[in-house]
Amino acid sequence: METEQLILHSAQEFNILPLTSRCDAKCVFCSHRYNPPQVRIVEIPPRTLEEVERTLLFLDGNKKIVIGESATNIIEGEPFSHPQFPQIIKLIREKYPHTVISLTTNGHRINRGMIHILQEAMPVEINVSLNSATVRGRKILMGEREGQAEKGIKSVELLHRAGIPFHGSMVAMPHLVGWADLRTTIDYLCQCGALTVRILMAGYGKNACSELKFIPEVMHRELADFIYPLAETASCPLLLEPPMINDLKPVTAGALRGSKAYQAGIKRGDLILDINGRIPRSRVEAWELAQEPGKIHIKVEREGRVLELAWQNKRNEKSGLVMEYDFDMERWDRIESMVKRLSGPAVMLCSLLAQNTLKALKKTVRQKELLNIQPVNNNFFGGSIGAAGLLTINDFYTAYGEYREIKDRPELILLPREAFDYLGRDLTGRSYKELEEKAGVQVIVI
Ligand code: SF4
Repeated sequence: METEQLILHSAQEFNILPLTSRCDAKCVFCSHRYNPPQVRIVEIPPRTLEEVERTLLFLDGNKKIVIGESATNIIEGEPFSHPQFPQIIKLIREKYPHTVISLTTNGHRINRGMIHILQEAMPVEINVSLNSATVRGRKILMGEREGQAEKGIKSVELLHRAGIPFHGSMVAMPHLVGWADLRTTIDYLCQCGALTVRILMAGYGKNACSELKFIPEVMHRELADFIYPLAETASCPLLLEPPMINDLKPVTAGALRGSKAYQAGIKRGDLILDINGRIPRSRVEAWELAQEPGKIHIKVEREGRVLELAWQNKRNEKSGLVMEYDFDMERWDRIESMVKRLSGPAVMLCSLLAQNTLKALKKTVRQKELLNIQPVNNNFFGGSIGAAGLLTINDFYTAYGEYREIKDRPELILLPREAFDYLGRDLTGRSYKELEEKAGVQVIVI
């Protein structure tokens, strides 16, 4: 019963249609392999057509339908491995004839037959987790046999030839496959017409074997030094995740080839000064302003010159502007208005990855002393894990203790919503209310 509720919540909240937790790859970096036993993960077998049909009622046809990605503790597997995949696509199209279907895949099962199904189901958008464009690389990273690896690599060529839009991604592990493999993979995805290429820094927990480990700060810097120069001349936007950014300057990462923003002349590195008379406060805000329907007038600074560009967005059409992720300003406005109402200070316990952005945002607050930022180490997973979604109540409590060693008791504790499910429970099933009781301070998840 709880699994069903979680599936429906996933559909309603994130427009995700969970299909199966089964996967036919064995990636060395797959987070599911190293989860400590206390983690409450939900594995689902291939869902029946009746179950899928019921979930469709909870989706919003005005937003893209996401398959193969997870935003909850449901494990997402390989959607194309579902034995009734063609029938499921047909069901979606009957209910939502025009909605974009976004599918994430490792590419094994993208063959001519599947290409035909996808063409019939347009508009679709495919996210191929290619990881490596060499058989050797896919064997090392994804545990594949030769034939399987070849099929995975070939998948992007098939998509390209069929005119099916796709994004490529790779978990970067140069310490296992070498930097040349990374370069080959990026070049191959660009040649095959990927809309974007995401290069994800691998994460490992304390239980990972020693060959997977690296020094996170060193690896992040090395990846940035490798990727950013390539991105200057690449034929599509290259996105390092997490990005190497410490500010909120709305500098573009490029534009999707053929999109409105691309045709209007947006280039990587343009600093956005103004969109329709509004000055964007962050990259995320600039991206949102550029999606508004109607005429877009945009002022950018490029190499010391100010340029004015314009295009027209149709309703529900994306502009194609690509920005790295920094912070959602609507969320920040809510944090700020909450803090303003207090008579004493608040502390925001945040992930290691978010701390620099939050510190940059704090500089924009008039009464800076009212908001303190306390980064939280992930002791539960350990290793290189720095994302908010993998923090636990114990981690927050330890960080709060460190904060209290140097500061007085705050009036409010703010916690990142990524760490909790819709009932306010962390990955181990413990409620944020525990922190409130232990600390004797009001806690808000935001
Ligand atoms: S393709 Fe995704 S789900 Fe499957 S093993 Fe690799 S990382 Fe895990």
